[in-house]
Amino acid sequence: MSSKEDNVRVVVRCRPLLPDLESNEEIIAKIRNDGQTLQLTNRQFTFDRVFGAESTENDVYTKAAKHIVDCVLQGYNGTIFAYGQTGTGKTHTASGIMQHSFEHIFDHISRSKNNQKFLVRASYYEIYNEEIRDLLAGNKKTNNGKKNERGNKTLELKENSDGKIVIKDLSNFIVNNVNDLKKLKESGDKHRQFGSTKMNQRSSRSHTIFTITIETEIGADNPDTSVVRVGKFHLIDLAGSERQTKTGTTGIRLKEAAKINLSLTSLSLVIAALTDPKATFVPYRNSKLTRILSDSLGGNSKTLLIACVGPAKVNLEETISTLRFASTTKNIKNKPIINED
Ligand code: ADP
Repeated sequence: MSSKEDNVRVVVRCRPLLPDLESNEEIIAKIRNDGQTLQLTNRQFTFDRVFGAESTENDVYTKAAKHIVDCVLQGYNGTIFAYGQTGTGKTHTASGIMQHSFEHIFDHISRSKNNQKFLVRASYYEIYNEEIRDLLAGNKKTNNGKKNERGNKTLELKENSDGKIVIKDLSNFIVNNVNDLKKLKESGDKHRQFGSTKMNQRSSRSHTIFTITIETEIGADNPDTSVVRVGKFHLIDLAGSERQTKTGTTGIRLKEAAKINLSLTSLSLVIAALTDPKATFVPYRNSKLTRILSDSLGGNSKTLLIACVGPAKVNLEETISTLRFASTTKNIKNKPIINED
């Protein structure tokens, strides 16, 4: 777990055909026996792991996501991204991981030694059109006792004296059990709907970020010698990666599309720079998302990108584009064509 590449893992999840919508579609995505290669007609792409249609939420958690949460519990920062075209299972996958991670964190706490003390806090927000909105604003008590106004107020970024980027006035809740976390998630999800007239369209155009910060005081029975370690876990359901321009996008939609492209491209460039041993510069400043994550991507931080795809032929073009993005992200060189027929 020391090389730069080891800190970034890229997996693919290919969901099943959707029974009502895709029952007549032809399946063109096949997983090879190595469990790492996805084959599409005459192309193949290899990643750290590929999860197929039969994979459960528990599989994805234990074989890919759990490692990140374990590292966060050890005091590292860890980030999981769900990337892909709208409808490929990003929210489904992110929700499963959230549920499992909540249980994992509090299970760890309940099994810990007596001389360890924990403080767990959570925030939930979205970035839409490069604007940050607090999804927990209006909830009763934040960490500092303030109640943030519910509404469409956008939040600004601020650089602290130590150079760290923080979101000014973001609600931050202390949580004491799995149920507290579940309630925050549900409340934020409602707020997301509440703030939007066309929920489906809107949600596919925003990035949502659920952040859990875990402080562990080790040797808490002696405050003079105890040490505190802090790990931050970000679970990010990214905006749909589909090329929005192909349906004659104009006006607001075009602006949205440009912002989504900007932030997804910035993300890819940042992660690619982090995994390239020759890279000397990491372009964090290009988007809000990468600025916010600048202390959680790179260094000793752990990153997992889950590229979500559907298996149907009708999505072939977008699926290839998602797999290319995921490959670029880890500088993975794939053989483009294995045969011509
Ligand atoms: P996205 O967030 O990428 O737009 P969703 O998570 O909303 O996609 O998934 C689209 C649809 O596919 C939903 O109806 C969801 O329940 C279903 N789905 C996604 N992934 C799976 C899966 N692994 N198994 C079964 N159904 C899935």
